[in-house]
Amino acid sequence: MTDITYRLPQKRHLVTELPGPRSSELAARRTSVIPAGVGSSVPVYAADADGAVIVDVDGNSLIDLGSGIAVTNVGASDPRVAQAVRDQVGHFTHTCFMVTPYEGYIRVAEQLSALTPGDHEKRTVLFNSGAEAVENAVKVARLATGRNAVVAFDHAYHGRTNLTMALTAKNMPYKRDFGPFAPEIYRMPMSYPFRDDDGLTGPEAARRAITAMEKQLGADGIAAIIIEPIQGEGGFIVPAPGFLPTLAAWARENGVVFIADEVQTGFARTGDWFACEHEGVVPDIITMAKGIAGGMPLSAITGRADLMDLVHVGGLGGTYGGNPVACAAALATLDTMRELDLRGRARAIGDVALGRLRALAAEVDVIGDVRGRGAMIAIELVRPGTAEPDPDLTKKVAARCLAEGVIILTCGTHGNVIRLLPPLVIDDDLLADGLDVLETAIRAAGN
Ligand SMILES: *Cc1c(COP(=O)(O)O)cnc(C)c1O
Repeated sequence: MTDITYRLPQKRHLVTELPGPRSSELAARRTSVIPAGVGSSVPVYAADADGAVIVDVDGNSLIDLGSGIAVTNVGASDPRVAQAVRDQVGHFTHTCFMVTPYEGYIRVAEQLSALTPGDHEKRTVLFNSGAEAVENAVKVARLATGRNAVVAFDHAYHGRTNLTMALTAKNMPYKRDFGPFAPEIYRMPMSYPFRDDDGLTGPEAARRAITAMEKQLGADGIAAIIIEPIQGEGGFIVPAPGFLPTLAAWARENGVVFIADEVQTGFARTGDWFACEHEGVVPDIITMAKGIAGGMPLSAITGRADLMDLVHVGGLGGTYGGNPVACAAALATLDTMRELDLRGRARAIGDVALGRLRALAAEVDVIGDVRGRGAMIAIELVRPGTAEPDPDLTKKVAARCLAEGVIILTCGTHGNVIRLLPPLVIDDDLLADGLDVLETAIRAAGN
């Protein structure tokens, strides 16, 4: 394993019950100034974080198996990222790239051109959030095609702004009562091997969606297909092999822009730079955020130059997009990923975790499916011996893990999926400890 030096001991260590008294105090203060609409998965408040450990305000050291939702792939305070941020803020924190541009933005664009799939000519635009990247990918696709319809999939998650809410599948909590939603969004069936009919292949699942698009929309009315190569919030759904390549080929034949939303799957998470690479899919536009800048807010779209260059001057941008501090953090993040071979590390994490969880699944009857790629791993929990989702059990498992000092996120349309997204710098012992706790929680909750 690569030598990684940490600032904080990489150990789970509890000194109070969770939440401790100082976290409880903050939780009480919070209610009088922050609306309940802003939820938090865990009730402990962070004081420090490094590698895969979060230290809370009561001095408890917790294992982080969520990376702040797939963001801190390089760890919570990677020294190179921290230094790059310090260096940049010593010079300037903002000029606005649309007013007085700077080199960092260009360097990030050069790197994304090189790292994203395909060796065609590319262009990159930087923004602040994943949702903003998705919005802009759709803007470019509509302008470039002169068409309106945008196709998204069952279980999709693309964000919380008006357009991206419309693209997102799940009503509660993302959409309910927040309409009306943006028009011209159409939803198609996803490939979901655990829940599809037995034996439905990836290409067959793609044909199912293609037939629906052709019959309901007409290929020549569709501006773009947007899809997460492995769905995130929707349940870490890995489509059957052949699904994505078949869809992408159909899109190409029909002048439909194929947008891969790699906001969650990108930046070494799945063992490649991007999840599309696994099946050699080359998207026309790729959306990126989360893991891109070690926790600094940055997002990007990289797309075919012939599409991106169609947009008129001033049509793309934003005050903070490609902030210089965030760009410096992104460049350091990419250096760290290469230096520590975090793609290899993601694959190693996947081998360990999938191996252990599959062995566990053979022993207990509440695990319906274990799936994932690299360090993006999920277990779908079900009522014993059935495929019926068990969200209550899922909550119970996450709560037991937290009580033992392990932060674990859930997801899924039915809320019955435990997802593991550890920082890719997690050390072997800490990962093993986190998995021990999870395994014990599943065995206990399953009884
Ligand atoms: C998180 C996420 C988004 C939205 O990103 P924000 O930065 O929260 O706006 C979009 N797409 C996918 C696949 C995501 O996981």
